[in-house]
Amino acid sequence: MASVTGLTHKFTSLDISKSNEPVAKLPTKFAAPNVPRPKVTSKPTVPVGYSKLGSKASSSSLKTQGTSKLIYDSAKTEKSKPPNPAHKRSESVDIGSYDGGLDSDTHEHVSSEDAPDLALDSSTLSTPTRTWSLHDFDVGRPLGKGKYGRVYMVRTKAPPRYILALKTLYKAELVKDCNERQLRREIEIQMHLRHPNVLRLYGYFHDSQRVFLMLEFAGQGELYRQLLKQGRFTPRRSASYAYQVADALSYLHSKSCIHRDIKPENILIGLNGELKIADFGWSVHAPGDRRKTLCGTPDYLPPEMVLRKEHGKFVDHWALGVLTYEFLHGSPPFEDKNRQNSMRKIARVEFKFPNTFEEDAKDLIGKLLRFEPEERLPLTEVMVHPWIVKYRNKN
Ligand code: ATP
Ligand code: MG
Repeated sequence: MASVTGLTHKFTSLDISKSNEPVAKLPTKFAAPNVPRPKVTSKPTVPVGYSKLGSKASSSSLKTQGTSKLIYDSAKTEKSKPPNPAHKRSESVDIGSYDGGLDSDTHEHVSSEDAPDLALDSSTLSTPTRTWSLHDFDVGRPLGKGKYGRVYMVRTKAPPRYILALKTLYKAELVKDCNERQLRREIEIQMHLRHPNVLRLYGYFHDSQRVFLMLEFAGQGELYRQLLKQGRFTPRRSASYAYQVADALSYLHSKSCIHRDIKPENILIGLNGELKIADFGWSVHAPGDRRKTLCGTPDYLPPEMVLRKEHGKFVDHWALGVLTYEFLHGSPPFEDKNRQNSMRKIARVEFKFPNTFEEDAKDLIGKLLRFEPEERLPLTEVMVHPWIVKYRNKN
């Protein structure tokens, strides 16, 4: 069996989200090393048809890590013998057994009149996707259970048979919690983001009962589980993770996006062990708009949110400080069984460093856990902080 790692390798340039974009723009980057290179041209090839998915005409694109663009002539590959090894490999990856969970119709229908925010079509969302449906995928094993439905490992039926995570959300449940707008915001924000440490949302579609999000497959699962399993991470691993989160946050902030809910539960791990920030449900895309909503779990809340003051992008800097502390220690700095105590400690920035922490690690965390948001270390400086650099250079 081919390894999933080799297959779903580097999906980052995938772009299937734009209006009328063909399905063949799904990632061909999962071609493992040593796989014969697809045809490379400087200009796009003449589009070729893709019967299975019903799109009129399509070409399949493949971007390299740099800026150059490779064009992958999928029709040629389909005709040629043997078929592209990447396709073959994808087919041989075991996506696990489907538990039938998507076929049991237990939820009432929600019309777009009841929930206009869930009428996710081109007339209502700025970045429409091509028409997808559940029939376009082979559904494999459940990857996890979200608040509004399961997440499945899936593979597109049409070549090159990409592997993705398909997140289902039941509309009736979303409506019950008044979370339609939040989901919409999550989609609108995540669709536009392209960073190796930010989980890609490739597209979405919906039926009468559910919304489906086509997500990048994070092959190593949840960071939270890893932390639970290991107790704590080594300084080297913690520093590498802190760097990746700082890099991702720096990118998000450059796009005027504040995540606001950074914590181990919202970070997944990719096939190559790289972190993927997920869960954009609480993020805001509002330059200059400093909101007062209290959100997030107490452990990661910054003083300005605990004190219900206005807050901005520096909430993410604070969360990075808490996260780094938790990586090294196994529990966050303001943890307390009593929520009120925890909030009080946060408001006073009252925490202790364990003896095991290195001085330069303390220096970094201390510079992020500052009461005054503006005094928190800029993310670009986090990335070159001596503690981070020390471990990055040790590879
Ligand atoms: P919650 O509110 O409990 O966090 P949620 O609605 O945000 O749930 P997710 O956290 O997105 O749902 O997904 C639930 C679980 O499914 C995750 O904890 C993870 O184990 C798995 N999962 C989600 N997305 C992916 C993915 N892209 N790749 C691999 N596994 C995933
Ligand atoms: Mg989640």
